[in-house]
Amino acid sequence: MRIALAAGDGIGPEIMSATLELFAAAGVTKLVEFVPAEMGKAVFDTGNTRGMTDEAVRTVEDLGILFKGPMETPKGGGGKSINVTARKMWSAYANYRHFRTLPGVQTPFSHLDLDFCIVRENIEDTYGGIEHRVSDDVMAAKRIITAPGCDEVLRFTFETAKRMGIDLVHCSHKANIMKMTDGLFLERFKAIAAEYPGIQTGDVIIDALCMNLVMKPQQYKMVVLTNLQGDIVSDLAAGLVGGLGFAPSANIGRNISIFEAVHGTAPDIAGKGIANPTALVLSGLMMLRHIGLTQQAATIENALLAALEDGAHTGDFGDRSKPTLDTASYVKAIASRLGKEPRTVKPAHAGSSSAVTFARPPQPTAPITMHTFTGLRKEVAGLDVYVDRREGAAETAAHLGKLCEGTPFRLTLLSCRGTQVWPRGSIYTECVDYWRARFELREGTTARQQDALALLARVAEHDTVSEYELLRTFDGARGWTLAQGQ
Ligand code: ATP
Repeated sequence: MRIALAAGDGIGPEIMSATLELFAAAGVTKLVEFVPAEMGKAVFDTGNTRGMTDEAVRTVEDLGILFKGPMETPKGGGGKSINVTARKMWSAYANYRHFRTLPGVQTPFSHLDLDFCIVRENIEDTYGGIEHRVSDDVMAAKRIITAPGCDEVLRFTFETAKRMGIDLVHCSHKANIMKMTDGLFLERFKAIAAEYPGIQTGDVIIDALCMNLVMKPQQYKMVVLTNLQGDIVSDLAAGLVGGLGFAPSANIGRNISIFEAVHGTAPDIAGKGIANPTALVLSGLMMLRHIGLTQQAATIENALLAALEDGAHTGDFGDRSKPTLDTASYVKAIASRLGKEPRTVKPAHAGSSSAVTFARPPQPTAPITMHTFTGLRKEVAGLDVYVDRREGAAETAAHLGKLCEGTPFRLTLLSCRGTQVWPRGSIYTECVDYWRARFELREGTTARQQDALALLARVAEHDTVSEYELLRTFDGARGWTLAQGQ
C-alpha cells in the first residue's frame, strides 16, 4: 500500500515525524510506503500559486490517499489555501470528523463522555469563492448548493452511520432563511433518509444546534451540514472535547481521500518541538481504518488512550501536576504502551470502523457529470436586473417601468439588500447603490430567453447593470425567492 505524504509547514514536520515514528513502532510502516509529495510554503515561495508541484499532484492522483500536515496559506497575493484547493480539485466531498471525550483531556464537558460525528459538505456553498464587486459600495458572494452535491455527501453520511451502527442522524441548516439553497439540502436529506429506514433522523436549525451542542451535546450522534455552517460547527464541537489539538478529519471522495489535522501551522510554537501531535495521530488512525489496517489502528488508539489516562500530555493540555512532555517524549510515552488497553474508557478493537471506504475505481474516471433532476420543463418567467443608481425608489421605479413598456415584462418589484422598497416598503429601509429590479411576465404572455435579454440590453443602454438573473419556472414551480416584505 502506498500513500502520498506531505508534512506541511510550521509545526507540520514535527508532528508528522512524531506520528510516523509511532506508526513505525506499531509496524505500520512495514505495510505502508509513504511517498513524499511536495506541497506548501516552499512550493508557494517558488511562485507556484497552487502550492503543489505537478509531480505532487500526479503522486496524489496515482495513489488516491494523501496524509498531510497543516499548510500555510500565503497572506495576500494570489495563493489560495492548499487545504481547500486539494479538497475541491480532487472532489473530496465529505469532511468527516469524530469528536470524543478523551481521558486526561479536561474540558467543561469531560464528564459527559461525548462521542459523535460531524459530516460537512466540502466543495460547494460559499467555498466556490465566487465573489464580485458589484457597485461602489457592494461586494457579493454566490452560494451554490447542488442536488447531486447534496446527495453525495448525504449518502456518505447515511452509509457511514449504517457502517458504524449509528442510529440517529441530524441535518442542520438554515432553511427558514435560505429557503432554496438550504431548502434543497434539507429536501435531499429527507429523500435520502427514506432509503435508510433503520436510521432515525431529525433536522435542527443551525443556531439551535449551536445552543444545544453547548447545553446538551449528548443528544447528537451524527450531524450533517453544508460547508460553511459545517466548518463553524466542527470547531465548536472540537472545543467540547479539548480543542483543535484533538480534532482529526478525513476528507473522503470517490477517487481521492485526504487525512489531516484540523488545526493550523501554529507558527508561534513551530520549531520548538513542543507541539501536540494527537490530532494528526487521530487523523492517521482514520486513514489506517480507511485502508483496512483496523487492527493496527486499534492498537495505536489503545496505546494513546492508555498514555492519556496515565497523564501524558504536551504543554497545551493536561494535568499540570504531571510533567509536561515535548512532542518526541509524548510519542514515546504512547509507543511504550503499544499492546496495552485503557482502563477507564472502552478500548478500541479491530471492528471499530471509521468512515465509509469506497472501492476506488480501478482506472481514473473521466470527469463525472452529476445529475439528480433531469429534463424538468423550464420556462422564462422574468428577469432580475441589479442596477447601480443613486436616485430613490420611486424615481428608479418610474424610470425602469418606462423601459419595459412594449416588452412582455412589467416591473413588479424593487428591492435593496433583499428587502422590498417598491411598490410597497418603508421610508425607514436603508438602501445602497445596488437596486434589484424584478421584471415579470405580463398576464397571458410567454417569453423566450432572448426577450428577457433584450430587456436587459435596453436597461443597459440607460443604467449601469451590476448583475442579472433570469427568473424561470421548473415544471411550473417558481425558481426564485420572494423579497423580504413581498
Ligand atoms: P494558521 O495560520 O496556519 O491557521 P494559526 O496559529 O492561526 O495558524 P492554529 O495553528 O490552528 O492557527 O493555532 C491556533 C492556536 O492553537 C495557536 O496558539 C497554536 O499555538 C495552538 N495550536 C494549534 N495546534 C496546536 C498543536 N498541535 N499543539 C499545540 N498547540 C497548537
